[in-house]
Amino acid sequence: MYIIEIDENKCTGCAECVKICPAEIYKLDGQLAGGRPRVQVGDTADCTNCESCKSVCAPEAITITEV
Ligand code: SF4
Ligand code: SF4
Repeated sequence: MYIIEIDENKCTGCAECVKICPAEIYKLDGQLAGGRPRVQVGDTADCTNCESCKSVCAPEAITITEV
């Protein structure tokens, strides 16, 4: 399985990861400083490490680690 982390200092809240993930792992939840939408990482059990989320994340805020 995989651990997915979002660097909230880098994330712009663009929600591209939310839209593209075929396993629907990301959800929008509240706001960060400056009014940026906050992205929450849900259950990662269905993550296949397809890297689609990483490929659309312009600020490279997503880290996926296999455990
Ligand atoms: S690697 Fe693929 S399945 Fe895993 S969170 Fe990113 S888009 Fe979703
Ligand atoms: S794609 Fe990257 S910058 Fe955009 S919401 Fe997801 S983690 Fe944040």
